This record gives sequence, structure tokens and C-alpha cells, in this order.
Amino acid sequence: MSVIGFIGVGNMGGPMAVNLIKAGHAVKAFDLSSSAVERAVEEGATAVGSAAEAAFESDVVITMLPAGTHVRGVYEDEVFGHARDGALFIDCSTIDVETARAVHASAAEKGFSMVDAPVSGGIMGAAAGTLTFMCGGSEEAFGRAKPILEQMGKTIVHAGGAGNGQGAKICNNMMLGIQMLSVCEAFNLAEKLGLDAQKLFDVSSTASGQCWSLTTYCPVPGPVETSPANRDYAPGFSAAMMLKDLNLAQGAADAFGANTPMGEKAAALYAEFCQGGSEGVDFSGIIKMLK
Ligand code: NAD
Repeated sequence: MSVIGFIGVGNMGGPMAVNLIKAGHAVKAFDLSSSAVERAVEEGATAVGSAAEAAFESDVVITMLPAGTHVRGVYEDEVFGHARDGALFIDCSTIDVETARAVHASAAEKGFSMVDAPVSGGIMGAAAGTLTFMCGGSEEAFGRAKPILEQMGKTIVHAGGAGNGQGAKICNNMMLGIQMLSVCEAFNLAEKLGLDAQKLFDVSSTASGQCWSLTTYCPVPGPVETSPANRDYAPGFSAAMMLKDLNLAQGAADAFGANTPMGEKAAALYAEFCQGGSEGVDFSGIIKMLK
């Protein structure tokens, strides 16, 4: 069993840390929010006073932070200077590819192994230990990270070198955002045509329009009992989270010269939706704005 420094024990990091404790690891938790740390301590973590202290003498350091700037700051200012030789770093935050690669490069320069391992599966997946991890880093680093990630997730994919976990995550979520918009538009058109939503669902869920946004997250109430549309669009996956990921995808498309006109449009539509006060609404709720 390992000593794991866990930095960022919020909505996702908190339950992920709990699964590591259940698996028998000693978890040293740090977060800027004292209430987040208190919750982790109630579940068996040890509170520490800084990210540096979380890194000190830990075998593994895991970060689950809001954005690239937090990740870079925590590693550059605290973790690199205090981690023990041979420590493994796993960043599970969703951040931009360029920052992920820059932090990997600094870690490598200082002799540390690192994996970027963003997740999908949300808060429910974090609590149930069923997350999907998309990992970037060397074979050696991935091989060391995998047994730890298996204690928090069900599907662990090695997507390639440094930053490719983040790449896989934002490419997937760009598809998701575009597909959700396509499903919303089709249901809105069907309504104008006098075509019943259930009938469209019955056809498209077994035809070529089939996708996760239709069959698992159907944006109209009725056809999929568990979709957020049946609980007034309570998230699920919030519009703000979708906008974050679409903006990361557009940032990457600009930086690396990819043409993503549909991704650009999706980002603009979700920005409009969020600016209208719907940040906390499930991302499928955009059907109402499109209507
Ligand atoms: P959150 O805001 O609940 O948790 C982030 C935590 O980081 C907070 O508790 C905050 O206090 C802490 N923090 C910020 N800066 C810090 C610093 N310098 N040192 C220590 N702690 C610091 O967010 P979350 O929902 O847990 O999301 C975390 C990451 O996971 C994000 O990158 C998000 O995009 C990604 N993600 C979230 C979900 C989801 O459904 N919530 C799903 C997939 C991926």
C-alpha cells in the first residue's frame, strides 16, 4: 500500500480519495477549502497544511484541480520542491494540453514520472469507483499509475505520450457537445413537424442517428427515464463543464492548427446558454434555448 498525497479534494477529488482509503492507502489530503479537507478526514484521510506537505514523503501525488493555472502553480511552487525521489505524479484535472505538456516536461527535467489522467464519469462515477481515465505519459509512468487508477475507476486507457490523456478527453467532449446539439435540433424540428418525440426516439435510437446524447441523455422528457430532462435538467453534467471542455478544445484547435467549425459553433452556443444564467443546468437543457 502507498502513501498518497491528494491535492484538491472537491466534488470529484473527495470521493476519489475515499476509494483510495478504502483500498488501504494512507491519504494525505490538502485543499484550499477547509470544509473539503474536513469531509476527507471524516472518511479516513489525514489533513495536511499545504500542497508541499501533501507531497512530502508521499509515494504518489494526485492532483484534482479546476484548471491549468492551478495545476502548474501547485507542481511548480510546491510539489516539485518537496516530493521525494522516485515519486509518481498523477494529474486527474481536466486542463489544456499545452500546460499539461509543460508540467510533464518540468517533472521529467527534475527526474519525476508523471501521467496526465483526466476522467469521465462525473461525481457518481467518482463515488462508485467507475471512472474512465484517459492517460498520457510514458509506458513506465502509465504502468505505475494503472494499479492506483484501477482503485478509482473501471476503464483505464493509455492514450499515448504526455498530454494525450487531455487530448482524448477534449476530443471526446467536443464530439459530445456537437452531438447533443444535433439531437436537440432534431427533436425541436420534429415538434414543428408534428412528429411525436417518442416516435423519433424509437426510430433514431436504432438507426444511423444513434449516439450517447440520444440513447442515454435524451434531451426531451419521456424516452429515457434516467436522463436529466426527466428531472428538470438538474445535472448530470453541467453546461458550465461542457463550456469549459469546448473552450479547451477550441484552444487546442487554435494552438495546433485544427479546423473545428462545429466545435467552434458548439462553444459559442454553450457560452450563450451559460451567459443567460444556465451554467448550473444540465448541458442537455440547451434544447430550451435552441427552441
Ligand atoms: P471542485 O471545484 O469541486 O474541486 C476542485 C477543488 O480544488 C476545490 O475544492 C478547490 O478548493 C481546490 N483547489 C483549487 N485550487 C487549489 C490549490 N491551489 N491547492 C489546493 N486545492 C485547490 O471541482 P471538481 O468538480 O471536483 O472538478 C475537478 C476537476 O475535475 C476539474 O478539472 C473538472 O473539469 C474535472 N472534472 C469534473 C467533473 C464533474 O462532474 N465535476 C467530471 C469530469 C472532470
